[in-house]
Amino acid sequence: MERVYEHLSQAVGRFFPPTCMLCLDPGQPPALDLCPACQGDLPRDLPACTGCALPLPRADAFLCPDCLQRPRAFDAAFAAYRYEFPVDSLIRRLKYGGDLAVARVLGTLLGQVAGTGHALHVQALLPVPLHRRREAARGYNQAGEIARFAGRQMGLPVLAGYVRRSRATAEQVGLGALERAENLRGAFELLRPLPVERVAIVDDVMTTGSTAEELAAVLRTGGASWIECWTVARAAVSPARGA
Ligand SMILES: [Zn+2]
Ligand SMILES: [Zn+2]
Repeated sequence: MERVYEHLSQAVGRFFPPTCMLCLDPGQPPALDLCPACQGDLPRDLPACTGCALPLPRADAFLCPDCLQRPRAFDAAFAAYRYEFPVDSLIRRLKYGGDLAVARVLGTLLGQVAGTGHALHVQALLPVPLHRRREAARGYNQAGEIARFAGRQMGLPVLAGYVRRSRATAEQVGLGALERAENLRGAFELLRPLPVERVAIVDDVMTTGSTAEELAAVLRTGGASWIECWTVARAAVSPARGA
């Protein structure tokens, strides 16, 4: 499936130059389906907390008050954009609309933005696995597709087959922070030790961070000593809701 798509998109790219998937203006060669103007308008959180990727109240700090009080199971978090229009609609197109072309755009953007500083710390990317039944139903793992293009952009390998989702967890959408953490307990299983010590978990959206925290704890037992959480987008969750 992946290879067929790759061949197709290469063949199509030879005849059709990249086109912006937001405004239909010309995209950016060789294969970014987004124009420079739309890329420049994507919502970013700057400066952001290096612990949870939420906007920082003070520009001279690295960690927000919440992260200073409660360090996470991962060592750093980074989100390329805010989970707002049009990033949210692109992610929905990828997750629920079966539009795999969006993965190239989102993955390439994540690789570009993360590459401006974050790439230095990690040796490989590890996408959040889907349970095999959900992946079979969707036809692909959106985090894996994003990681593939981000890794290609940054020259980083993508680790596959090291960890799996051992339980089919309920959709996190609509759950509060505590319910999310409870829903995910024991969801991931290490299959074999990691070949590197410094990894970045890759996912589409970070909301409370509970998925990445659960996965990070498992990766730690697999030999990871430095774990970052990279997502295309960060959804705003107020500390009052237990972020
Ligand atoms: Zn555009
Ligand atoms: Zn923080």
